[in-house]
Amino acid sequence: MADPALGGLYADMEGRLGPQGWWPAETAEEMVIGAVLTQAVAWRNAERAIAALRGAGLLDLAALAAADVDAVAVLVRPAGYFRAKARALRALAVWISGQGGLGALAARPAAAVRRALLQVRGVGPETADAILCYALGQPAFVADAYARRVLRRVGLLEAADAGSYERARAALAPRLPDGADAPWLGELHALLVAVGKEWCRPREPRCGACPARTRCREAARRTADGAAAG
Ligand code: SF4
Repeated sequence: MADPALGGLYADMEGRLGPQGWWPAETAEEMVIGAVLTQAVAWRNAERAIAALRGAGLLDLAALAAADVDAVAVLVRPAGYFRAKARALRALAVWISGQGGLGALAARPAAAVRRALLQVRGVGPETADAILCYALGQPAFVADAYARRVLRRVGLLEAADAGSYERARAALAPRLPDGADAPWLGELHALLVAVGKEWCRPREPRCGACPARTRCREAARRTADGAAAG
């Protein structure tokens, strides 16, 4: 059953922060490439690699599928783990081409596409869900570390679920509003990332000005602890 607390959190975050405009890409193919490049690194590093691929005419899945992996590795070096990412980009580009392209994948059932994506070398659940949601327009939630931290602290995920990507995803699914579609889920993820970066930091959350503060279990606990100590 949909959880009104999740809808309220979304409304509070969007009311304060406005539309996030994710994914930052000009095309669906660029989005897919960016989803691989941003794994385990800050987006600004992925952007440098994207710029290098664009300059080489390789910001294109068909071109990447035919490209030399070592040459791609040199270009994506700014994104870190560059040999692994070059191999993943090529594997993903070859696989997508073999499936008939992104348009053909978007027309297939999301669960089947997710299972198949996870079989592609270098594609983990976070990358698969980002591709499903932002490139294929499928209702997938990206339960990355930012999202799991904020949802746990707010009280919408228990700690045991927040520690695992797949458990978090499964635990959140019944709480989503009926008809939660790709734009809604993509925006939810983007808002949670914004809150996680700016306010809900791992060690010292900045609760005072956080858009989620009025609904947050952790903020209430900290306030109570502070009152008790005072
Ligand atoms: S109020 Fe504090 S603990 Fe809660 S989400 Fe915001 S920063 Fe995190």
